[in-house]
Amino acid sequence: MTNQPLKINFNSGPAALPLPVLQAASAAVINYNDTGLSILGIPHRGKLFAAILEEAKSLVKELCGLGDDYEVLWMHGGGRLQFAMLPMNFLGDGETAGYIDSGYWAADAISYAKYYGNVAVLASSKEDNYTHLPVWPDAIPKDLAYLHITTNNTIYGTQCHDIPKADVPLIADMSSDIFSRQMDYTNCDAFYAVAQKNIGAAGVTMVAIKKAMLQRIRRTLPPMLSYAAHAQAGSVLNTPPVFAIYTALLMLRWTKEKTIATIEKENNEKANALYQEIERNSLFDGIVSNTADRSKMNVCFTAKQPEHEKAFVNFCEANNVTGIEGHRSVGAFRASLYNAISLADVQQLVALMQEFENLNNK
Ligand code: PMP
Repeated sequence: MTNQPLKINFNSGPAALPLPVLQAASAAVINYNDTGLSILGIPHRGKLFAAILEEAKSLVKELCGLGDDYEVLWMHGGGRLQFAMLPMNFLGDGETAGYIDSGYWAADAISYAKYYGNVAVLASSKEDNYTHLPVWPDAIPKDLAYLHITTNNTIYGTQCHDIPKADVPLIADMSSDIFSRQMDYTNCDAFYAVAQKNIGAAGVTMVAIKKAMLQRIRRTLPPMLSYAAHAQAGSVLNTPPVFAIYTALLMLRWTKEKTIATIEKENNEKANALYQEIERNSLFDGIVSNTADRSKMNVCFTAKQPEHEKAFVNFCEANNVTGIEGHRSVGAFRASLYNAISLADVQQLVALMQEFENLNNK
């Protein structure tokens, strides 16, 4: 057994994490910060965990440029619980929430919102199988309870490169591209991201929300389902996922040290390298029709000849490159280039695509 992962991991989430984060997380499982305690056994209401929560919150604020008008919450339940809690909290009877239907997760968020109120789907690219971003309407109705967008479509590989401004509360699912580039996070009244891509390990979801939003809650809710109750309890309403939050802190420190500017530069280089190879290589095709909409986080592509699909996956696996199968609803290939993936990792995949082409064109 070795003490580091040996495979290049292009999985879409849970996904690769940087080696120093993995090393610090695993050391803490045995003896957290020389306290003589495993991180798995520290009390969630004690001083040690309070310091972890405080630092994680202030790093999110610093990295996103948020002021004291935002709360940062750490929550259970993944992205889907946010799909339900947003309308539960902010969509009252008789009100309408606007959604942009840009992919599988956006559509899932819409289906959850329909349990609680009216939903206006203001734009959708479903008819084109989400191969481009939807075209926004000229005007967003001013009486919406909120407008929900998904900044990066993990499954179809499109990405909204700038966060728009809106006259209604804007809520963004940033699960698969948070911290991947500089963005104007303050255009959002709330944004959230599951941890298992750019924030850390599965089991926790980060929610940043304007304090003013907590005054707009439309229903009487059990505390676990109310953003206000979580904010009031400082994310320890019940026993939180202590280890996942600690891993998030390690990842936030890594992100800060590397800087978002450097991460963004590398993400551009990584995505360019892979898209260029997809265009050049005679065996592969890109999936996203509008190149401006292509995601820098999840690069989706197909094989021109169906028999190459399984063969290329096997070829990658035989060469220690894993996780490039597309989502079960799209098929083909998807390479997720989250922040922990290096340019050298992408170059390795590019080299395999070239070798595969040579082998098959003989
Ligand atoms: N939103 C996006 C953009 C996602 O990529 C995912 C999952 N990959 C989710 C939401 C759902 O997250 P979960 O599985 O934690 O419910």
